[in-house]
Amino acid sequence: GDKRLKDLNVADTTCGYCAVGCRFDLYSDGEEILAARPTEEEDAPVNGISTCVKGKFGYDFINSDDRLTAPLVRDETGEFREATWDEALTRVAEGLGQIKEQHGGEALSVIASSKATNEENYLMGKFARQVLGTNSIDNCNRLCHSSTVAGLAKTYGYGAASISTDDFELADCILLTGSNTTEAHPVLATRIKQNVRDGADLLVFDPREIQIAEYATQYSQINPGYDAVWINAITRHILNNDLHDEEFVEERTTGFEEIKESVQEFTPDVVEDVTGIPHAEIVSAAETIAEADRCVFGWTLGLTEHSHGTENVMAMANLAAVTGNLGKPGAGVSPFRGQNNVQGGGGDMGPLPDNFPGYQDIADDEIRAKFEDAWDCEISPEYGYYTTQMFLAADEDDIRGMYIIGENSALSEPGVNHAEAVLEDLEFLVVQDLFVNETAQYADVVLPACSFVEKTGTFTNTDRTVQMVKQVMEPKGGSRPDWKILQDLANRMGREWDYSSTAEIMREVKSLTPIYGGISQERVDREGGVQWPCWDDDHPGTVRLYEDEFNTDDGKAHLQAVGYSEPAELPDEEYPFTLTTGRVLYQYHTGTMTHREEGIMQYTPSDFIEIHPETAVNHGIESGDLVRVTSRRGEVVVPAQVTDRVGPKNVFIPIHFAESAVNRLTDEEHLDPTAATPEFKVSAVRVTPYEGG
Ligand code: SF4
Repeated sequence: GDKRLKDLNVADTTCGYCAVGCRFDLYSDGEEILAARPTEEEDAPVNGISTCVKGKFGYDFINSDDRLTAPLVRDETGEFREATWDEALTRVAEGLGQIKEQHGGEALSVIASSKATNEENYLMGKFARQVLGTNSIDNCNRLCHSSTVAGLAKTYGYGAASISTDDFELADCILLTGSNTTEAHPVLATRIKQNVRDGADLLVFDPREIQIAEYATQYSQINPGYDAVWINAITRHILNNDLHDEEFVEERTTGFEEIKESVQEFTPDVVEDVTGIPHAEIVSAAETIAEADRCVFGWTLGLTEHSHGTENVMAMANLAAVTGNLGKPGAGVSPFRGQNNVQGGGGDMGPLPDNFPGYQDIADDEIRAKFEDAWDCEISPEYGYYTTQMFLAADEDDIRGMYIIGENSALSEPGVNHAEAVLEDLEFLVVQDLFVNETAQYADVVLPACSFVEKTGTFTNTDRTVQMVKQVMEPKGGSRPDWKILQDLANRMGREWDYSSTAEIMREVKSLTPIYGGISQERVDREGGVQWPCWDDDHPGTVRLYEDEFNTDDGKAHLQAVGYSEPAELPDEEYPFTLTTGRVLYQYHTGTMTHREEGIMQYTPSDFIEIHPETAVNHGIESGDLVRVTSRRGEVVVPAQVTDRVGPKNVFIPIHFAESAVNRLTDEEHLDPTAATPEFKVSAVRVTPYEGG
């Protein structure tokens, strides 16, 4: 239109899509977002002046026709009807309150939202523990990086990236695995490619020959499910040839002899047999890493979404430590987080069954006493259920009611046929979201929340930087920010909350959370961003973890021996292919936001399955043909895309589409024993041409 930018509302804010955490100015006329423009470069520590299509254009969803603008309640006939906030919140307070009264608060669970702000996630944790009386609160991190958090916490102390985004440009060598970086973290991929153009080595290990592999110095195609095997094999080659950093190992680690022994079983024939990687590629990767002065190890869900995800991460952590690649510029580990605020809202703020904010253990008496005192309530020292376990516990009636905020569990849980049955059977379900998503179909009450352009708070990105999110338009219709909804509900359920702003909530977080001890909204706004740990007002924040010591009792990295393991489900005669799942650039998660973007939908409008040409010939399948994909848990029908991007024994389906929900095929039962992460990346399936019916 002819609206001049200077007449518009403008806010310098942080992207609400992925956890790279790009910053830009958003312009709005109060009705819609009209433009996203680069902010001052020094105010955008991660992206400078770049953004990707989602950050730049992904705002149609705000005014989408099906955006929820009033609460919905189920009427006598079982249909939804619009209701006032008062009626809807009264119903929620009664529905949750009744279960609490009859079965105790532990029969309730909350799924918090990594899309919401830090302040809101803090309140979700407080609400679960103080108001409902349950520790069963968790979030989407369980389905993705919880094994990263567990594996890194065990070896180094913090379950987070040790480095900053800038370090990707300072590295001589970058190893990437299980990360479709160009599609899932576009701006980060741009920075990696830039460094490769300047001469850095890039090693890519992935089952699919994804786009970033085109830039790689070495691409190795791996069979999914054996990551600890090839990582340990690299470590073995390094140790057996004395290519490790002796001084670092000596001074800064424990457990070296144990891992040196444990990697010996990963001999070239074992590795070639199960991973499909020729020994020569293990050797060249090992030598490239060892020769580099500064190496970054980056990964996403290809490493973590396994029944052995935590072990995979520990194997990687061992490799980084024995090569001395920690605590210095251009060297470290970086799990790229997915959702915009999964690091902060999904982790740091403690909407977790075992941790208070700042990863403070709820089983620790002193820490629990601090929160009982601050929140004026009693808190059980027993850990609650992880998300994946909540759905299993509901089968036993140990969970009877759920409050699901900004999470589309009916598509995102593993084995969604089971998840749907659980949602259907709950005594009470309240869903808080922007839309009536697939999960809300099962709700008793749906509460309309608002998006990140309609509220103020903070997000913490993948490199631990806390950044401001600023309101640039009023909440659409009758929608409300999550924190206001929670406050209203808490007060209806017998508490007295009276936060007047999210800045005030952040002050409470600061007072209770040592790693956020110097972080206030005022400071974040002034400085552009602050990286935790930031212990007090005078502390500058932490660009790189572990420069002097690890966050362990003795200050050393605790190397962890990781033995041989296999995926929980192996291909066999009946289900001969290994299915992996993943993301595409033009979509985001279960599509709640991106499916409402016309401009975006024209690129990847529907689902597909990638099938190797050999498989296609053997089964008489051509590109575009419909294919029936069957696992032990369900089946879906999707059009084929014949490509050698996947190996001959593998197939790939993206996660974004409801019509052919790939999680009908995945397995809800075999979880990582430490982190309860499901094995999304390996399911045994059969593919057959679809003949209708
Ligand atoms: Fe937003 Fe991520 Fe794209 Fe940056 S890379 S604009 S944070 S979606």
